[in-house]
Amino acid sequence: MNLLFIIGILFSLFFSNIILLPLPFNQYAYMLAREQIKQHDRAVQAQNNLNSKEKIVNLYLELLQVKEYVNTKTYFYPSRPIETAIENITKSSFYQFLQLLPKGGNLHIHEFQILDRKLFLESIKNSPEYDLLYICDQNDCIKNKYYLSYYKNNVPNGWTKVKDSNWTISDIIKKTTLIGILNDLKTPIYSTDTEARWNLADQYGVFNFYGDLIRHNVTRFNYMKLVLDHALEENIQLLEFRRGFFGNLFYFDENGLRISINATEELDLLLKFKKDYISKNPKFIDFIFLIYSSRQSSKEQIKIHINNLINLQHLYPDFIRGYDMVGEEDKGHTILFHSDSLINAFNYSKTTNGSFDLVFHAGETNWPENHLPSNYGDGVSTFENIYDALVLRTRRIGHGLSLAKRPDMYEYIRQRQIAIEVCPASNQLLGYVADLRNHPGIVYHRSGIPIVLGGDDPGSFGYNQLTIDFYLATMAWGLNLADLKQFAWNSIQYSSLPDNRKKEGFQKWENQWNLFIDSSYILACNQTFSNVIMNISDILPTYGPYNQSINITLFGSGFEIAICKNIICKFGEKETNGIFIDLNEIICPTPLTNNDISIVPISIVINNEIFESGLNYKFVSSLIIIDDETLTTTTPSKSDKFVIVNQKLIAGLLILLLTFIL
Ligand SMILES: [Zn+2]
Repeated sequence: MNLLFIIGILFSLFFSNIILLPLPFNQYAYMLAREQIKQHDRAVQAQNNLNSKEKIVNLYLELLQVKEYVNTKTYFYPSRPIETAIENITKSSFYQFLQLLPKGGNLHIHEFQILDRKLFLESIKNSPEYDLLYICDQNDCIKNKYYLSYYKNNVPNGWTKVKDSNWTISDIIKKTTLIGILNDLKTPIYSTDTEARWNLADQYGVFNFYGDLIRHNVTRFNYMKLVLDHALEENIQLLEFRRGFFGNLFYFDENGLRISINATEELDLLLKFKKDYISKNPKFIDFIFLIYSSRQSSKEQIKIHINNLINLQHLYPDFIRGYDMVGEEDKGHTILFHSDSLINAFNYSKTTNGSFDLVFHAGETNWPENHLPSNYGDGVSTFENIYDALVLRTRRIGHGLSLAKRPDMYEYIRQRQIAIEVCPASNQLLGYVADLRNHPGIVYHRSGIPIVLGGDDPGSFGYNQLTIDFYLATMAWGLNLADLKQFAWNSIQYSSLPDNRKKEGFQKWENQWNLFIDSSYILACNQTFSNVIMNISDILPTYGPYNQSINITLFGSGFEIAICKNIICKFGEKETNGIFIDLNEIICPTPLTNNDISIVPISIVINNEIFESGLNYKFVSSLIIIDDETLTTTTPSKSDKFVIVNQKLIAGLLILLLTFIL
């Protein structure tokens, strides 16, 4: 029995697919195993390999990032309420560097919740419409407190003309953005109180304050221009706007009456606007629309919405590209509740030659699947929206926070290349992820699921566009340039653009990317480090074979001195070329020597300047490594005294021995 048991174990060792590392029975084997596991990890970290220039820019990014870690050590913004951190974040040099990074597209953005309210109000202040701007601020203005609207005449009770009042733009912002309102509360709302944060937004009308202004035809196009201009300032070249139905636009006639502009007229105006904008700003790729309904709507309402949408979409197949349902997911209906109408939308999508998809917000919840179903008696929990979104072949998943608890689904999502739209700042502000270091977005990314970063509702929250999300994700998750490049690439690849437009999109983004790399490379190489002292604190392993080149790692600080410079490693008098890994890690390949045994001092040379490590390396004649076949890179010749013993060989020998004894 015992014999069979032992043989069983040995056989499982013999034939298993588990990746086994060299056994760390000495320092040399330890470092080989460590190098191996690290290389494996690095290989999955980013699919985009960086070229030599990008590697330098990556070191520059790392340097700025490390400085930011030092500056924010005691108050780390990604783990603090964003409403207390936003101002300091935008002032940092790391944020300003990220602002210039070409980000591709912003694929999760609600059209009328984007623009920084300050920019919006300033543009109105400089336009003739400022004369028409009123704010609902008087005592008899209860329901629409602080809403903004245009009136030419017949101003209702409770409204004050902004131009003739004491209202300043910053005062209005404080009353009409979520961050402004949160900072104004006498008792702060707890950072994980999702329900209270949504209630606050709904109670004050955070998503509606400006709703009437953007219905005015002139303001609407001014708004759109500002959104696109500021997207380009943040190097965002593509926008997928989620929005409600078209057909709410109006203009004033000479009597001050509101005259409606219907949906097709509005779309035609938008197409013309887009054509003009792209001809003036050729680096801009495109903007397209995903139309949504509120998930709180009744079945009948959703049915009507989808029928209307189908009638409009086939007229504008390159412009209207999908459908979604929005609003607080835990409070609205589930996807299953509306499935009858959504099946219609799905069937329609199959007739459109790929011009129309369902693109759901799904899994924006912290509750597990057995949490009470929504208030409406849907019968299933919010958690299950992920299932239904996949059933309806969602093109992407908006937020997808609940998916974190279902790693068994990752393979399905990976295979079908369904991107997750991750919105770190929004998730934190609405109380879903208080500490962004633990946001599941990084898990999806490292699991090989494509992710894109999205801004969600930055203007209504109280900031602008997308750089803030890049800052928070990069700092919280320790991202590097390859990761950010991947996100940007994903945002074009997984966008709803038609394929021919995607190709053009990639070209335009690559142009911007190359310009960014060129200018950042110059910045990186022109740095001076007069106050930095290089210190090599450790070398591992400290010994290795004399007749075979292996990589040894130099750990330390101040390595930024070597950015853009050649690194020469010196083992005594022998030299090899060093490899810059990151700001505290340089790899030195060992030279081959003729002497069997010798101990040499290690130093590195940068720009003819020698940096002594004060540490030694020992060449040895004989080493035994117990390997498990993963060390295929080390293939010593027959005459080597450097011996690699294969673990399977040991197992085989043990089987023979045991069989012999027993
Ligand atoms: Zn959203």
